[in-house]
Amino acid sequence: MKYLYDLWEDFISLLFPRLCYGCGNHLMRNESLICTECYVLIPRTNFHLKADNPVAQLFWGRCQIEKAAAFSFYTKDSRIRKLIHQLKYKGIKEVGPELGRIYARSLLHSGFFEGIDIIIPVPLHPTKMRKRGFNQSDLISDGISAVSGIPLDTKILIRKTISATQTRKSRYDRWTNVEDIFRVTYENKLAGRHILLVDDVITTGSTLEACANEILKVEDTKVSVVALAYAVI
Ligand SMILES: [Zn+2]
Repeated sequence: MKYLYDLWEDFISLLFPRLCYGCGNHLMRNESLICTECYVLIPRTNFHLKADNPVAQLFWGRCQIEKAAAFSFYTKDSRIRKLIHQLKYKGIKEVGPELGRIYARSLLHSGFFEGIDIIIPVPLHPTKMRKRGFNQSDLISDGISAVSGIPLDTKILIRKTISATQTRKSRYDRWTNVEDIFRVTYENKLAGRHILLVDDVITTGSTLEACANEILKVEDTKVSVVALAYAVI
């Protein structure tokens, strides 16, 4: 019976091939979304094993971050770039939680999650949210939350819509001025907590810094950050 079932599955996969979102190769029966080769070849930063890693250094002298790490290096031809592209621009939403789970498993083994109380994804710009229909950082956080068991909250930190005064500013000013665009809604939920901020790609760290600064205004809070990828600039 199993043989017939496998045969049927092979027949179906001939008609509707399941392809890896990282490299486009056919997936084996036991693989889903990402093939084993991509899984193995995604270049890990292992930053979570080193406290003074390049992502942590981004925040030195800017804001107090407890722990900082990123899963993979984001380069032009990297598999993580392809995967994040599928997630953000092709709307393959399942890739988000899957990558979140993969990363969270290695963080879990290293003890990175110890002391962390809440996971908060970096809120997406409202215009992009309307256009895309989802926030990729929410999806990545879903996977991290599932593996770590740490609750996820997407309501505490929100992104403000552009005010009338801001719309009068030049386009350049609006996009570069991120300091004032996040707001904490329920301060009492944050007080005394250690928050893990989650983003998809870290470049300069300014968005995460703006989020962290809002959170750190609340009494006795701590902030750590992780992202799926670190773009070397
Ligand atoms: Zn692949």
